[in-house]
Amino acid sequence: MEIRINKSTLSLVEGDITRQDTEAIVNAANKSLLGGGGVDGAIHRAGGPKILEECIKIGGCETGEAVITTGGNLKAKYVIHTVGPVYRDGIHNESRFLENAYKNCLRLASSKGIKSIAFPSISTGAYRYPLAKAAEIALKTALDYLREHTDIELIRFVLFGSTALETYKEKLKELI
Ligand code: ADP
Repeated sequence: MEIRINKSTLSLVEGDITRQDTEAIVNAANKSLLGGGGVDGAIHRAGGPKILEECIKIGGCETGEAVITTGGNLKAKYVIHTVGPVYRDGIHNESRFLENAYKNCLRLASSKGIKSIAFPSISTGAYRYPLAKAAEIALKTALDYLREHTDIELIRFVLFGSTALETYKEKLKELI
């Protein structure tokens, strides 16, 4: 599914974030930036040791913040690492932290002149954020960004599996 906002595109695809040809891909990292499972493990495996070397130098990342490294051996030139919230019960500012994670990735991309970016579904794996709730925040934040700015030409959500893709599609239809 793909929609146009001004001159930019927001697209939803099923796939593997490590194989994307966007200028930047986003990693759902943890605060240590030292790698982990899920998307994080896949990105470090596919991208090689340069990414981890830069992450070690950076030294960590707070929840809702974002940092940038090389893409190493990936097609993407950059990896933007962000840390989503661990979902507890929905009353510990999880939604604000998740929104900040997306926003800060987009701001950082913009500051580097990046025109295309691919996101995974942040926090919906090991961090247990309910998928439909997370999809709503992810899509709202991306739509707002594209409505207010024209520099980023493509935001692609790369969903792992058909359930995630369908959930994002349903939410996007509700929001436009
Ligand atoms: P978090 O700790 O932020 O929850 P995870 O990596 O555990 O991060 O999961 C985030 C989402 O990424 C989950 O929905 C998971 O299914 C998905 N995912 C896992 N591997 C990949 C991949 N290679 N490409 C895209 N999405 C992935």
